[in-house]
Amino acid sequence: ESKRKGRSTYTYYDTGLNSTSERRFNLEQRLPKAIAEDELVLHFQPKVNLSDFRIVGFEALVRWQHPELGLVYPDDFIPLAEETGLIVELGEWVARSCCRQQAAWQAEGLDCVALAINMSPLQLQREELPSRIESLLTEHDVPADVIEIEITETVLLKSLEATVMVLRRLEALGVQISLDDFGSGFSSLSYVRTLPIHIIKIDKQFIRDIRNSTHDGVLVASIISLAHNLGMQVIAEGVETLEQLIYLKTAGCDQAQGYYFSRPVPAASARDLLRNGVLAPS
Ligand code: C2E
Ligand code: MG
Ligand code: MG
Ligand code: MG
Repeated sequence: ESKRKGRSTYTYYDTGLNSTSERRFNLEQRLPKAIAEDELVLHFQPKVNLSDFRIVGFEALVRWQHPELGLVYPDDFIPLAEETGLIVELGEWVARSCCRQQAAWQAEGLDCVALAINMSPLQLQREELPSRIESLLTEHDVPADVIEIEITETVLLKSLEATVMVLRRLEALGVQISLDDFGSGFSSLSYVRTLPIHIIKIDKQFIRDIRNSTHDGVLVASIISLAHNLGMQVIAEGVETLEQLIYLKTAGCDQAQGYYFSRPVPAASARDLLRNGVLAPS
């Protein structure tokens, strides 16, 4: 009994941010300030067209440059932002930053490629989202077709009607919509067809073990042909090896994204990649 007391007293003096709950508490408390004071930063990961290996776009992935904890990854704070509702403000910051980035690249005369923004279900339930996006586009003089939105199947779980309406209005603006992490959720491609989706993004868990005649290989090839038959494009995420790349290209996959080509990189490095234009396999 006394030993246990002693231990908990010791824990009391351990004021570092080592424990999961302390870290979580710190992140949650500080997040509003982080958004307001620009501690967030976007990294960009190229999407490559598999017919000519040209960069056709980038996915914007948010990171938090935390003054004490260093670079914090989204899995550690996006769920907190979703629980507290701060995701709306955070999402606005991401959308504005992407428009600003597009404007800067266009001013430099770089090729115009799409920037993809990840959106949480809560953002997509908000009626004002399309008009917010529209005014950001106008403000930065950026055409809608260079902005893409990535949604996940979890949007099907809540407020389906409101979400479909928001997506249709975004589509009407000219924004591309892709379905992220496809296959990791619960729904079939035909069910997902109730959403205005232009691009299917196959979840990285299915890419890991693809090879001829493996279970995942067959599954991925089927998703690709089904998506094509439904008039959608397909991108594979999490491509790490040449073998995976060759399999995907042979199976008719349109685009790929993953460490094989490039990790998500800061804006300056993304600009250099874009300047080169091609990420040919070696
Ligand atoms: P996601 O949208 O599915 O993004 C793909 C994740 O896989 C990213 O992790 C990316 O860095 C990682 N990845 C890319 N290529 C490879 C690869 O070849 N191998 C492996 N193992 N991983 C790869 P990240 O950046 O940590 O982001 C995690 C998740 O956080 C994202 O998953 C997305 O759901 C969410 N997220 C990121 N940025 C935002 C944002 O601005 N808003 C919202 N709402 N969510 C975001
Ligand atoms: Mg994504
Ligand atoms: Mg994904
Ligand atoms: Mg994911």
